[in-house]
Amino acid sequence: MRLDIAPHRLRWGGPKERVTQTCSVIGCGVAFTCDDVPLRMWKDDGSAIALCDVCVDRYVVSDQAGTKRVHGKEAKRGDQG
Ligand SMILES: [Zn+2]
Repeated sequence: MRLDIAPHRLRWGGPKERVTQTCSVIGCGVAFTCDDVPLRMWKDDGSAIALCDVCVDRYVVSDQAGTKRVHGKEAKRGDQG
């Protein structure tokens, strides 16, 4: 599994920070409820991101599934604006 998104569009939290309660994709900012985070990822240095459902659909590419690629332009619009 990997992310199909430009690195500068992600806001990584520092190793000492709590995992963010909002989506880490810059320009998204969907807030999560409690611990219901659709996806979390960590780097080796301990910094972390969290993604909302919409961004998971848009940017996560599953290598196991072969060629599942999701293009953002026609992705569904969230209710959050
Ligand atoms: Zn998002």
